[in-house]
Amino acid sequence: MTGLSRSLDHVKDRYDVIVVGSGYGAGVAASRLARAGKRVAVLERGREVLTGQFPSRFPDLKNDFQVTGKRLRTGSSSALYDVRLGEDMHVLVGCGLGGGSLVNAGVALRPDTRVFADPVWPGQIVQDGLLEEGFRRAERWLSPQSDPRAETLTKYKSLATAGKELGYTPIAPTVTVSFEGGVNAAGVAQPACTRCGDCCGGCNVGAKTSVALTYLPDAARHGAELFTHAAVRHLAKAKGGGWTVHVRRMDRNGAAPQDVVVSAAMVVLGAGTLGSTEILLRSRAHGLALSDRLGHRFSANGDIIAFGYGAKIPVDAIGVGYPAKIEGMEIGAAVSGQIEIDDAGDLANELRVQEGVLPSALAPVLPVLFIPNGRLLGALQSLINGVYKGPFAKLQTFFAVSHDSASGRFVLDDDQLSLVWPTAKDEPVYKRLDAVLSSIVEAAGGSYVKNPLAGTVMGHQPATAHPLGGAGMGRECGDGVVNHKGQVFDAGAGRGSTAAHEGLYVVDGAVMPRSLGVNPLLTITALAERAMLHMAQDYGLAFDDAAVGGTSVAPTDLGAIVAA
Ligand SMILES: Cc1cc2nc3c(=O)[nH]c(=O)nc-3n(C[C@H](O)[C@H](O)[C@H](O)COP(=O)(O)OP(=O)(O)OC[C@H]3O[C@@H](n4cnc5c(N)ncnc54)[C@H](O)[C@@H]3O)c2cc1C
Ligand code: SF4
Repeated sequence: MTGLSRSLDHVKDRYDVIVVGSGYGAGVAASRLARAGKRVAVLERGREVLTGQFPSRFPDLKNDFQVTGKRLRTGSSSALYDVRLGEDMHVLVGCGLGGGSLVNAGVALRPDTRVFADPVWPGQIVQDGLLEEGFRRAERWLSPQSDPRAETLTKYKSLATAGKELGYTPIAPTVTVSFEGGVNAAGVAQPACTRCGDCCGGCNVGAKTSVALTYLPDAARHGAELFTHAAVRHLAKAKGGGWTVHVRRMDRNGAAPQDVVVSAAMVVLGAGTLGSTEILLRSRAHGLALSDRLGHRFSANGDIIAFGYGAKIPVDAIGVGYPAKIEGMEIGAAVSGQIEIDDAGDLANELRVQEGVLPSALAPVLPVLFIPNGRLLGALQSLINGVYKGPFAKLQTFFAVSHDSASGRFVLDDDQLSLVWPTAKDEPVYKRLDAVLSSIVEAAGGSYVKNPLAGTVMGHQPATAHPLGGAGMGRECGDGVVNHKGQVFDAGAGRGSTAAHEGLYVVDGAVMPRSLGVNPLLTITALAERAMLHMAQDYGLAFDDAAVGGTSVAPTDLGAIVAA
């Protein structure tokens, strides 16, 4: 098995473009700018995990968590799941070559058109037609599709049964999963989904159409160099033009930290909502003139994960993994069914409720996770029977998305990113979600479990896996951090100025000035594609997004692309 990445030992002093991070936004930038003939370096703090190497047993999964709180730091800096415990809200993000796409459920939806009609966005977003082209490109490359067999899955049927009592009929939402198998736009041959349910543990089949199997191989095929264990600390303007990027090596295995400096004419930040905001906050502390809106307008996208325990109907929503731990069970992708609650009069009331699957590596500990809430008896029964038969075969998992007021704020506290949102738990969205979810759970004969870990180190704060904002778009420096193209405003030009720093962009979840009300990956990708189309116009670049032809490579052998 060979991969795309290389060690920082091989990094050059200078590139045309440095792309920071490797999730959706970064992947788009790396692919498009490499196609435009630029010498591109991608700097990712995490490690590369190839298809077949994702944790499938609990001891491995446990080692793939890194947890950071105010006075707490555990786990490896290259662990896949990065949990930030906050006093007001917890946040979960992915860490690794491919970013959140490695461990997400892949639900890919367009937001309601009213989202972009909100005047919080710069007007060009809806006026110049490039957002639509961005969505088209994102959909071509990530190929979202509904499971053609969704309605046959037990978890889908249980959502339909419970929903029917309340007048809701589920639909099969589009997910970035290849159900038929085939060669994707980047020339990677993806096998068909086995419906093993492990998408949020990492797809060991290669059927999830992640950034690691699309935009990043495409970038490498066009000459981009991809570096892992490379955490960017801050950036500064270089004397004579361009940027210096200060990078901490994360592959030192306990030895003293070592920083390297790489320079480039252009820097594109795609380190995610938390990563890009932190890099900009630190860069401002080092003297870079940035908008005083930096850190503001954080949104959790009205997103929660919740459970129903004790349903009277089978649910079968615990992954079996690949190779399958239980023969003959077809679970489905992490999300197969969704209930849509629309409100033509008030966008804020719109809800998307998705039935979810927990990864198979969690199976052995699920009963223990539910003990703090006093469900000991059922839990012990499941320990004995295995979670695929006892009460946990009726465990309902829900991912739900809606809208919030985007009033959180990131600050640097002792050089570490910290989220401040004291009123987060009082956001009206949580009451709405609780009401809908508990009625669905009760209709299935179970009881609603908002947070099985409440009372532990997790406390009672809300948690999100959809962090957005912090470097939000605006019309000018006084109301945003970046413009509609993702260019970073230069605060040195004064409040109200539209002047931007030459060659500095943000293209990830951080640029959203509000909640989206749907899972964000498709919008992040579309806005990044749009930013690249603007960059092409502004800098006279030429690239297309045509699918790669010729011989395909296997997801386990991406290194063949680098060697070619
Ligand atoms: C369990 C889970 C399930 C989810 N399910 C869905 C879903 O079904 N649909 C959906 O739309 N969204 C889902 N999401 C959210 C979605 O994955 C994210 O919104 C998306 O990945 C964000 O894309 P991004 O480009 O902003 O950054 P990310 O994908 O977060 O990528 C940022 C990358 O930058 C790296 N990085 C951070 N800081 C630095 C630094 N200083 N230096 C170098 N590299 C850095 C990170 O390690 C990461 O690889 C889910 C998330 C999780 C965790
Ligand atoms: S269900 Fe299994 S095979 Fe299908 S995309 Fe998810 S992890 Fe991959």
